[in-house]
Parts: sequence; C-alpha cells; structure tokens
Amino acid sequence: MPFELPSLPYAHDALEPHIDARTMEIHHGKHHNGYTTKLNAAIAGTELEGKSIDTILTNLDMSNGAVRNNGGGFYNHSLFWSIMSPDGGGSPSGELGNAIDEAFDSYDGFKEKFSASAGTRFGSGWAWLCVHKGGKVEICSTPNQDNPLMPGVGCGGYPILGLDVWEHAYYLNYQNRRPDYVSAFFNVINWDKVNELYAASK
Ligand code: MN
Repeated sequence: MPFELPSLPYAHDALEPHIDARTMEIHHGKHHNGYTTKLNAAIAGTELEGKSIDTILTNLDMSNGAVRNNGGGFYNHSLFWSIMSPDGGGSPSGELGNAIDEAFDSYDGFKEKFSASAGTRFGSGWAWLCVHKGGKVEICSTPNQDNPLMPGVGCGGYPILGLDVWEHAYYLNYQNRRPDYVSAFFNVINWDKVNELYAASK
C-alpha cells in the first residue's frame, strides 16, 4: 500500500488566528501532498516499498536524497498536524509535564529553549521535542526535512512535538516575522496528543 496523505483532524481555518486557513490549505494540500506523492515514487519497486515510515527513516541511507527529503517531509507534516488543535495551548501536565520541568526547570524554560531552537535554525527546517528511552526529553532542530529518527540527525530519541519553520509554514500571514509565528504556535499545541506520544515512546 502506498503512503496516503493523512486528513487534517480539523478544518483549514480552525487554527486561526494563529495559523491562517490559506496557509493550511497550501501547506497540507500542496506541500504535504507533494512529499507523499514523491515518497511513493521514490520507494516504488525498491526494498523500501511496504515498510513503515518509522522503519524507513530509522534505517535510512542518508545519501538517498529522494527518500530523505520526501520521507522526512511525509513524516514531519503528519506529526505536525496531529500535535496541533483549535482547543490547544496551555501547558503540559502529568508525566510529560514532570519531564519538561526536570529538563528545562519549568514550562517557561521549555518555551524559551524551544523558541530559541526554532528561531535560530538558519533557512528551512524544524524544531523538535524528543523523548529518549527512560523518559528524558530534549530539544533540538534539524535542517530541511531531516528528522531525529534518521541516523546521526538532531538529538535522536523519538520526536513527540515538531514545529515547521520553513517559510511556507508562515510567510503568508507573518512574512519574515518567524518569532511571531513561533510564539503563536504555543497557543495551538495539543498537549493531550503530545502526552500520548510521550507515554508511547519513552
Ligand atoms: Mn512544511
């Protein structure tokens, strides 16, 4: 079965005013759709066909540009949509809240470090919150469509929260004001979902 573009779990305009409807339409319908189609083309007829995306990325030959870029793009955006919600925001509670307090002193400490990671990524890429075996969380960023599951990329561990800082993710609404977009993102984080991913991955 080829990979399929996952449906958005909310309407295009659901994340407004933080992320505008037109950006969501293009980002999901064009960009993510493009990565999905190109990933399928890149693995068709190869030994990667039929494998899970986690398996493909974890064992990736980093010199395979088509699978690296499009497999990363497919995975990263699928995660991105799932960890946002119109009912999002607030701060994490439970086990993840404790892990965040332990790693960054407080939720504000987390916000500051995550914002810096997203803000200082030069050019296109992502900021991540990853969980290591045992439950320790770590922040890092990766260029382009690279992902911490890939060998030797980012902080390793399992990504449970990702923020797309490609200009296509914010330019229509924020132009060059990436820090405003990053700060708005915290209002739509679906911490229930991130908590679920934390529990499943630690
Ligand atoms: Mn994107």
